[in-house]
Amino acid sequence: MEENEKKLNFLEEIIEDDLRTGKVPSILTRFPPEPNGYLHLGHAKSLCINFGLAMKYGGKTNLRYDDTNPVKEDVEYVDSIKEDIKWLGFQWEKECYASDYFDQLYEWAEDLIRRGLAYVDDQTQEEISRGRGTVDKPGVESPYRNRSVEENLRLFREMRDGKYADGEKVLRAKIDMAHPNMMMRDPLLYRIKHASHHRTGDKWCIYPMYDFTHGQCDSIEHITHSICTLEFDVHRPLYDWFIETLGIYPSHQYEFARLNLTYTLMSKRKLLELVQKGLVAGWDDPRMPTLCGVRRRGYTPEALKMFCDKIGVSKRDQLMDIQLLEWCVRQDLNARSNRYMVVQDPVKVTLRNWPEGLVEWYDCPLNPADPEGATRKVPFTGTLWIDRADFMEDAPKKFFRLKPDGEVRLKYTYIIKCEEVVKDADGKVVELVCSYDPSTKPGGGEWRSVKGTIHWVSCDFAKPVELRNYDRLFTLADMSQVPEDKDYKDFLNPESLTLGTGLAEPALLEDASGIAVQFERTGYYVLDKDSTTEKTVFNKTVSLKDSYKPE
Ligand code: ATP
Ligand code: MG
Repeated sequence: MEENEKKLNFLEEIIEDDLRTGKVPSILTRFPPEPNGYLHLGHAKSLCINFGLAMKYGGKTNLRYDDTNPVKEDVEYVDSIKEDIKWLGFQWEKECYASDYFDQLYEWAEDLIRRGLAYVDDQTQEEISRGRGTVDKPGVESPYRNRSVEENLRLFREMRDGKYADGEKVLRAKIDMAHPNMMMRDPLLYRIKHASHHRTGDKWCIYPMYDFTHGQCDSIEHITHSICTLEFDVHRPLYDWFIETLGIYPSHQYEFARLNLTYTLMSKRKLLELVQKGLVAGWDDPRMPTLCGVRRRGYTPEALKMFCDKIGVSKRDQLMDIQLLEWCVRQDLNARSNRYMVVQDPVKVTLRNWPEGLVEWYDCPLNPADPEGATRKVPFTGTLWIDRADFMEDAPKKFFRLKPDGEVRLKYTYIIKCEEVVKDADGKVVELVCSYDPSTKPGGGEWRSVKGTIHWVSCDFAKPVELRNYDRLFTLADMSQVPEDKDYKDFLNPESLTLGTGLAEPALLEDASGIAVQFERTGYYVLDKDSTTEKTVFNKTVSLKDSYKPE
């Protein structure tokens, strides 16, 4: 389907309607992370939606930190979030913090108290939740519900001034304890928390609750479309209640389905636990679904955007196949990545008839899709490494790689023939003595073809590299289905990381592309930050081929 005939998603329909009817002159969205962890692939979906819609309709997007819980938040997270958003290629309009609006929120709370719409409650947390009732049973009113305005104002100010301990009192809205939506049964507005905030320091010891913060922040910034995930659906009446009651700019909330992916999970709390328990090497461990993790893994912003575009925006929760994401990574890297030959499980090939000491250098394309494009220099000599898997002694008929008395083409160069198999005392193949056919050099001599082509590396020029091969983080496809008697950590994949080594053509170490490269016939790998002058480390991004095809 052409871009312009693609069906609009429900958010695009709403926005086009709002622009057409003049309800809003232009759109302003926001991305509202809580700085209590690193961004993950789910956030990438939210980012693509919020920034994507703004870009499509000539609007803008604010970055707003939802920093109302000082205990769990940190500047480390604030900084990483900005880095990740920039990496994806998005530019926010304003950088805002819910804490910037604490004074205004406080004023609004007093305003509600003065109008008899909020009260200080002395009940414990348990009493409050018990009093809230259930879906089928109305709640009961707090014994403190009918305090006078004066008393409420005095107590709330004392809360603000630090007179009470954590949990001793809360401020609640006075709405309706029998409301069919539990959220509307006198929700909490403020709680006491004697904790330093990463921005406001010790100025406050009371902090506003999410529901009393989010909508009003949207309103202050004149956010037109406040887009969040489905679980906030039940919060919407409350979101609207505050905006209507306070008579402020009417932002509107819309909900879409969160992203879930097979073999991984996207809860910041659980990801933090993996980091803290040392079950992964950090937030940017290449197995993590965090943006810094997949970046270190070699996934590209382009691939993530392609993925978000493919999964679209829906109103029903679904579990997406991680293979679709891998497919997108492959698509992007196949088109753009540089190619190099690397042998991982080496067997030596000696060319019996190669002139002693001769080195031939070939100019090989960095990307076969661009044969006229940049090249790399590949040296060829009389002793080579090939991969053990490319040789078979008792080969079946359909095995088209190297076998005794068989021929194979070495990628970019000659056809060789295996004449002798040398083994060690244990019977392991250690060397293949071959001959090369000088007439088969591409571009010269007569062309003849053989069925197989294999990669190789000259022993005289090979550079050792360390390889970290990654697999799925968990063994269970649907991590929302962890049985009651188990813990999600029981499903960590013990084989999610296997170490290996490789022998690479020398040009690999000079690669300056800055993105993952293709090890020809094997997979995509990316240079890791652990590399030093002594060792070069590559992370496996994704295998070269997979039977998976998107629908
Ligand atoms: P977690 O439960 O992992 O802590 P969160 O929803 O609390 O996630 P926030 O930092 O509050 O994380 O999220 C910022 C924005 O990203 C919110 O609008 C949220 O709805 C959205 N978001 C978070 N997780 C996902 C997901 N899996 N898919 C799509 N959007 C998500
Ligand atoms: Mg949150």
